[in-house]
Amino acid sequence: MPSRKFADGEVVMGRWPGSVLYYEVQVASYDDVAHLYTVKYKDGTELALKESDIRTLSSFKHRKSQSSSSSPSRRSSSRSRSRSRSPGRPAKGRRRSSSQSREHKEDKKKTVQETNLVPLKPSENNTRSYNGEPESTERNDTSFIALEQQKFKPDLDIERVLEHYSLRPRKEEKKREEIYSEKKIFETMKTEKAPPKTKELEFGGRIGTFMLIFFLPATVFYLLLMCKQDDPSIMNFPPPLPALESLWETRVFGVFLLWFALQALFYLLPIGKVVEGLPLSSGKKLHYRINGFYAFILTAAAIGALLYFQFELHYLYDHFMQFAVSAAAFSMGLSIFLYIRSLKAPEEELAPSGNSGYLVYDFFIGHELNPRIGSFDLKYFCELRPGLIGWVVINLAMLLAEMKIHNLSMPSLSMILVNSFQLLYVVDALWNEEAVLTTMDITHDGFGFMLAFGDLVWVPFVYSLQAFYLVGHPTTISWPVAAAITILNCIGYYIFRSANSQKNNFRRNPADPKLAYLKFIPTATGKGLLVTGWWGFVRHPNYLGDIIMALAWSLPCGFNHILPYFYVIYFICLLVHREARDEHHCKQKYGLAWEKYCQRVPYRIFPYIY
Ligand code: NDP
Repeated sequence: MPSRKFADGEVVMGRWPGSVLYYEVQVASYDDVAHLYTVKYKDGTELALKESDIRTLSSFKHRKSQSSSSSPSRRSSSRSRSRSRSPGRPAKGRRRSSSQSREHKEDKKKTVQETNLVPLKPSENNTRSYNGEPESTERNDTSFIALEQQKFKPDLDIERVLEHYSLRPRKEEKKREEIYSEKKIFETMKTEKAPPKTKELEFGGRIGTFMLIFFLPATVFYLLLMCKQDDPSIMNFPPPLPALESLWETRVFGVFLLWFALQALFYLLPIGKVVEGLPLSSGKKLHYRINGFYAFILTAAAIGALLYFQFELHYLYDHFMQFAVSAAAFSMGLSIFLYIRSLKAPEEELAPSGNSGYLVYDFFIGHELNPRIGSFDLKYFCELRPGLIGWVVINLAMLLAEMKIHNLSMPSLSMILVNSFQLLYVVDALWNEEAVLTTMDITHDGFGFMLAFGDLVWVPFVYSLQAFYLVGHPTTISWPVAAAITILNCIGYYIFRSANSQKNNFRRNPADPKLAYLKFIPTATGKGLLVTGWWGFVRHPNYLGDIIMALAWSLPCGFNHILPYFYVIYFICLLVHREARDEHHCKQKYGLAWEKYCQRVPYRIFPYIY
């Protein structure tokens, strides 16, 4: 018996999830393990379907001719009815009497039959082809979402069904039994949504990711060595290499482990609220404890106590390279552990982007999406705790080292600015910890070397480069310059924060009356795409704000060397690349609606430039 019935590239009829409607789709790939076909709809939307939800074009044509001989006129009227009820269309809000309702049920049966018999012809005019959008493509009326959320409050399961698949009510007075039948559809659909194999490899594929595993640690090593030089000019490449044995000290590694354990302990404390993450491909939602800000306060108290008892925090500065090597060794060990344990993970728990079947690639991107030991979520923990809080502690250590080395009674103005700006950034991230649950790192990328190294080594040791640089290369800036840089940082922060909050609030509760002034384009998935406010200014306003802040962090280091500007240069490259990745995913998710959004908001990050 053949393992699959439809070939890649074949044009077939695919059932729209949760409905009885079939649309012309093209088979993109087949997952042998999950037995699911990835199919592409005309508008670019990609979905995973079971074989039983796919029919050949010819079977439709055959049945169409049978039905056309029986009742051509009826067929055309049914077709228009079925289109008006296609999934994703808003409720028309018309009430029916019980007899009308019976009639409607009969009618619906016929529609169902005839919809199955008559494939919808793709329209030549792109704007009229189905993409699940209501006729008006831009709106700020979230009533259809609000209705849905209010109406079924008592039955949380049903609410989740609707939320996950955004099955908008086909008519306002939808009966409970009909909803229950949708719930059944949902249950059978759970298996349809297992993540398919990763076909499109990023970061240069296998070779690119293999090289990055060496290139990233080498870059950190190089930057730290350069920063130690009196003249850290790039012309002085390569910097003198230290003796290998000087890079490792077991005590330093012990301190690093202690730090990691302390943060893990804070994470486990039963303080702070517990929230649900976004639905996984299986429909399940994971729970996360939001206590990062408490962890920060407790850490501040612990550091304060250490300083009170005369602990020399500049120990961190003196052994900075050894700490970086310890963190790198730990992140490599953690990545190996994560990859090995991911081999036993169920298919539906694998990351959509790290499931290529290539060892090096999956090791780098992360094979398992949300590796957990009990309720301890390893990725979520590493994202915001040891590395991010560690970054602030390192900055403080640099500030104290500067005062000690240069015999200062006060830190330099440059050092104060760098410390304060970055402290604000970290505190903001921890205060808004919940927002991390909707980021690509949590929802899309697995937990592998990329994030383990990024969170535990890159963030604390590269992002603190300006403070490290200032210890060895004192830079004096005037008060007016300091004021101008502070204003720049505030502008960046304002854009970054308000853009992120606008999107997060809209995603969490699109019907929030406070957001009623915003317009959005509805999409086939039920989520809207904001086209006014910050998200109507450029397509990634949060990246714009972040880049402005990155520049403000480098400026206090003066213009003698490019080294302290490494962060802003790297960050622009990172966010431009990240934007392209996100764009690609959004195009797949939202199809035509995304194209409309791009037409409406043509610039990606920098207005009138890019
Ligand atoms: P974003 O917060 O930019 O989210 C992108 C997602 O937002 C898209 O996938 C889409 O997801 C949704 N979206 C896109 N356009 C719209 C729209 N018009 N209306 C509503 N929703 C839209 O993702 P990131 O994770 O990349 O960034 C989060 C923050 O973290 C940013 O501020 C970024 O600057 C920062 N960051 C910082 C880094 C650092 O090292 N300091 C590194 C990386 C990021 P969906 O539709 O599925 O909701």
